[in-house]
Amino acid sequence: MINILKKLLYFIYDNKCYFCSSSKEDKIFCSKCFNSIEFLPIYPVKNIDGIKIYAASYYKDNIQKLIRAVKYHNQKELAKYQAKIMHNYWKAISANKNIYTVIPVPMFYSKARKRNYNHMDLVCEEFCKLTEYRLDKDSVIRIRETAPQYKLSKPEREKNLKNAFQLKKIIKEPVLIMDDITTTGSTLKEIIRVLNENNIYDITCFVTAIPEKESILIY
Ligand SMILES: [Zn+2]
Repeated sequence: MINILKKLLYFIYDNKCYFCSSSKEDKIFCSKCFNSIEFLPIYPVKNIDGIKIYAASYYKDNIQKLIRAVKYHNQKELAKYQAKIMHNYWKAISANKNIYTVIPVPMFYSKARKRNYNHMDLVCEEFCKLTEYRLDKDSVIRIRETAPQYKLSKPEREKNLKNAFQLKKIIKEPVLIMDDITTTGSTLKEIIRVLNENNIYDITCFVTAIPEKESILIY
């Protein structure tokens, strides 16, 4: 009986789009929902000490649902769609044909273990398949646990992340640091600082999404 129920539930839910749950396409992200993603202009959303920060979209609607699904709800299959969206945006920037070393923003190991995976590793793996960039998941490490950033003010965020990252070995430039969201930019700023300390200056940052207003709390 339970098996029949499971099969029925699978039939009802699993073959449907995670976003609209109504598409007839046998896809987890149907083309209608995928094409509903609105991109930001090809222009940096921020500049941290001369380093450009790009974001593909605003953190809302299907992008928000996608990021949360990959990050918190174990929807690993959706990581390739997150990468694809980032790639669709990035194509316009990458005309310079640089081969970047991609650094996913690292998680502290106990957090990664609890979740069994670092969601940005998955996204960056897929992104590097599309771009043929070098993926480097191991050179920048998070050496201590930090409080969740969304609870803190901007000065507190910077303090919270101070000395949270370490560079284990020198990486080849240019470097592309990738994360899902940035608000105040504190995490990226701290990684940039560590790279600069090691004479690495050719850096660009790229996130999937930013909030429409920096003051919006993201969790
Ligand atoms: Zn859909």
